[in-house]
This record gives sequence, structure tokens and C-alpha cells, in this order.
Amino acid sequence: MDRLEKLCVDKGMRMTEQRRIIARVLTQAEDHPDVEEVYRRASAVDPRISIATVYRTLRLFEEAGILARHDFGDGRARYEEASEDHHDHLIDLQSGQVVEFRDDEIERLQAAIADRLGYRLVDHRLELFAVRKDADPAKLASLKLRSR
Ligand SMILES: [Zn+2]
Repeated sequence: MDRLEKLCVDKGMRMTEQRRIIARVLTQAEDHPDVEEVYRRASAVDPRISIATVYRTLRLFEEAGILARHDFGDGRARYEEASEDHHDHLIDLQSGQVVEFRDDEIERLQAAIADRLGYRLVDHRLELFAVRKDADPAKLASLKLRSR
């Protein structure tokens, strides 16, 4: 049984063949696919899987806490397996490439900020939107940068 499939079963979820295929697609993903991409991969395995099923299943997995949903700024929800080991993301605005990283200093700093404000940090999200240092400035002009 795949990792995600086992998590679903452990949570008492009824695993249909289609859910099993979608779970397998997500376990095997090394990127952060959106709904369309999960649909493309799942329907390549079983053409009877509809996009509506993919939407429903992703929502189900997300609500069960076994899938993490991200917003990388392009208006499309991206998914990855919710893992024990926390990481953050850097998004290359030109290529759309997503780089995963973890920085102990940032982790510590976030907890310290929450603490200073009278809170205990329980979770956080951090997305860095970036362009390569050697990027051609002329090509950056067309990017819709949300920076101020
Ligand atoms: Zn990730």
C-alpha cells in the first residue's frame, strides 16, 4: 500500500479504486501539482476518472489533513503530501519552479515573534517569490510582481 493510501485507511476512509489511484499519484509526485495536473496523471492510469472526482478527492484528503494545499500566487491551488518534516517554499516567478527549503533561523525567529506578541506559534506558511539573480531585467518587466 502507498504511504498516502495507508494514511487514508488509518483515518477510516473508504478507499475506492479511483481514490487509490489519486492517492498513488500524489505519493509519487515530487513536485506540487495543481488539480489539472493530478487529473492528467490519474486519468492516464484510469481514463474513467473525472476531474470532478479529482476535485472531490483532493478536498477529502485535505480535510483529513493528509494533503497540504498551497497558493503559490498564480491563483491555482497546489497539492503535496502533508509531511512530518516541515519545509517552506521559494517560487521562481519566471519558470514557476518551486524550491523547498528549511531554515532553522527563520523557524526560531517566527516563534520568537509570536512569543513577543503574546502567542505560542502552532503553524506557519512562508512563500518566497523570487527571480534569479542573473535574470535579464528586460524579461522581468513583464512579470506581474506583487512587490510594493
Ligand atoms: Zn513542498
